[in-house]
Amino acid sequence: MEKIKMTTPLVEMDGDEMTRILWRTIKEDLILPYVDLKTEYYDLGLPHRDETRDQVTVDAANATERLGVAVKCATITANRQRQEEYHLSEIWPSPNGTIRAVLDGTAFRAPILLPFLRPAVPGWEKPITVARHAYGDMYKAVELVTNEPGIAKLNFKGQSGKDETLVIAKTKGNAVFQGQHNTETSIRAFVHSCFQYALDTKQDLWFSAKDTISKEYDGEFRRAFDEAFANTYQAKFDEMNLHYFYTLIDDAVSRVMRSKGGFIWALKNYDGDVMSDMVAAAFGSLAMMTSVLVSPDGSMEFEASHGTVTRHFYRYRAGEKPSTNSTATIFAWTGALRRRGQLDGLPDLISFAGKLENACLETMKDGLLTGDLGVLVDEGHRCQILNFEESLEAIAKRLATKMHPISER
Ligand code: NAP
Ligand code: MG
Repeated sequence: MEKIKMTTPLVEMDGDEMTRILWRTIKEDLILPYVDLKTEYYDLGLPHRDETRDQVTVDAANATERLGVAVKCATITANRQRQEEYHLSEIWPSPNGTIRAVLDGTAFRAPILLPFLRPAVPGWEKPITVARHAYGDMYKAVELVTNEPGIAKLNFKGQSGKDETLVIAKTKGNAVFQGQHNTETSIRAFVHSCFQYALDTKQDLWFSAKDTISKEYDGEFRRAFDEAFANTYQAKFDEMNLHYFYTLIDDAVSRVMRSKGGFIWALKNYDGDVMSDMVAAAFGSLAMMTSVLVSPDGSMEFEASHGTVTRHFYRYRAGEKPSTNSTATIFAWTGALRRRGQLDGLPDLISFAGKLENACLETMKDGLLTGDLGVLVDEGHRCQILNFEESLEAIAKRLATKMHPISER
């Protein structure tokens, strides 16, 4: 069989530990037999980030901007313990943070559903995609602890000489303070990514915040969404029969709980952090959550939501075969291949991405599962728990029957 051709390379970012092991097998056994794979390869594994003084991460992010599509393996975020373990010259910043800063994107996280894995919220029939604004607010705040009566003020000195001061509070005793900010550029980039993604995936868009209390700060987010909708997206939404709506976050939580799913829920940084973990937990396993970072110019970086599965890697290094689930990593690859196929007009590549996803899903539907899913299965559903190698072999077999139907064998 002739391999499926690609015209433009996609950016491939290799990673660490157990996911690096899965990465190699996914490429060799599931993709390379069928696709004449073109990638620009960047090794974001911690040793190579250290060798290049993290330049490789910046190069990979810039390449994503240039080529428009990337697939990323999970990577270790260095800390003091990792510095000792890997003899690092410095504690390098989180690669995801670096990539986000270059792409100025929004992180969309969505679960992969299976009929026999029942979500903790029984009404949820379709996936809920959480779109988290990934800049500012509490994550870029300054904090102050005081221990005497006094007065705290918020002061802004403009370049023009403008000087504005607000009293935050007069305190009678010990107190704590926090200064948060966001920027119009980042908020608008977030807003456009959300609308664009809703159009790309043909889903309704919800945005929720607390603009009754935070009239200026949350109000700025709401105004940006409302304006972008009215000025740019309403006609396209109408045409595709899609809906955008804003509601207060407390109302949104109760609506989400009572919904059937099947929409994008856009949230500010902290709300998105909390709600994406809630949605992930309610749908099942972290290994069934996909993640894509979308920049305002439409560049997309696909990855799994989970980390490098360190505990499994240590067992692998000790000679065991852990039962690691490769679904989210495979779906990162299929997401990137499909996107490349859409941009370059390659129907065979798009169709291959679908077949590989179906091979994964059907293998699991047959009851061939990894340990993380075994514990979530409905009573009465027969299943067999495989290690990561057996699971990938089963998927490869299933894929082969789709790529070479019996009539052609
Ligand atoms: P993790 O790698 O997501 O794993 C946490 C636990 O979740 C695992 O020990 C395992 O539970 C379960 N799990 C996650 N993915 C699984 C899979 N594919 N199959 C089966 N079980 C899975 O999080 P972590 O252990 O906190 O972090 C490990 C490293 O990853 C850290 O160095 C962190 O910096 C990094 N990290 C990277 C990213 C990223 O690159 N996007 C994201 C998060 C964390 P059991 O052990 O109970 O089986
Ligand atoms: Mg979180």
